[in-house]
Amino acid sequence: MNARVVAVDGPAGSGKSSVSRAAAAELGFAFLDTGAAYRALTWLALERGVPLLPEADEDAVLALLPGFDYRIGLSPNEPNAVHVGLTDVTQAIREARVAANVSAVARIAGVRDYLVAMYRRTIADCTMPGIVVEGRDITTVVAPHAEVRVLLTARPEVRAARRAGENGGSAEAVAVAIAERDSRDLANADFMTPANGVTVLDTSDLSFAESVAALVDLVNAA
Ligand code: C5P
Repeated sequence: MNARVVAVDGPAGSGKSSVSRAAAAELGFAFLDTGAAYRALTWLALERGVPLLPEADEDAVLALLPGFDYRIGLSPNEPNAVHVGLTDVTQAIREARVAANVSAVARIAGVRDYLVAMYRRTIADCTMPGIVVEGRDITTVVAPHAEVRVLLTARPEVRAARRAGENGGSAEAVAVAIAERDSRDLANADFMTPANGVTVLDTSDLSFAESVAALVDLVNAA
């Protein structure tokens, strides 16, 4: 039997990662963080000295894909270790230099095609009762026929405050960094407007527990 698929998209700092993970844990589902592969490929490109800004060397990035030995854990109950080859990049892919460069990698069509196909295989191979998949293009491209499709949002100032709380830094500086990344990423997928049939879950005025409960309710109601 195929796993039930819960697709969650949203902008940076919306809480989609932590909310999706906690909902998956409660539902007994797997959890797939799709941004991690875009980040890991960006990390690899930086390691290899591939120029990414202001203009990515697309051919050099695409040349990395055949040797991109990427693995991520799917358990919602522990931090998902991310490996490229034998290197544990779990921490490294969260660094600011990766966040600053990742949109340049994510906008390359060949990269998106490759990773979308990889994620579809992960979903198809899932042996858990369900899988919560979060990213930017899950409700529209990766799994447009998912049983549950959700756009998780929050007001910009709320998102900045949450990210600053997680990673440190002033809320103002974080707000600028988030807005810049979102505007670059919007060229790849519209994760601010719900596609047909997608439920908007605005968590601005919800606690973390309330946000998780709202997502779990959507799945149980489906
Ligand atoms: O979700 P996260 O912030 O870790 O995503 C990192 C980056 O990966 C995003 O800024 C975006 O450029 C890219 N991404 C994407 N499509 C996805 C998930 C992430 O383009 N489904």
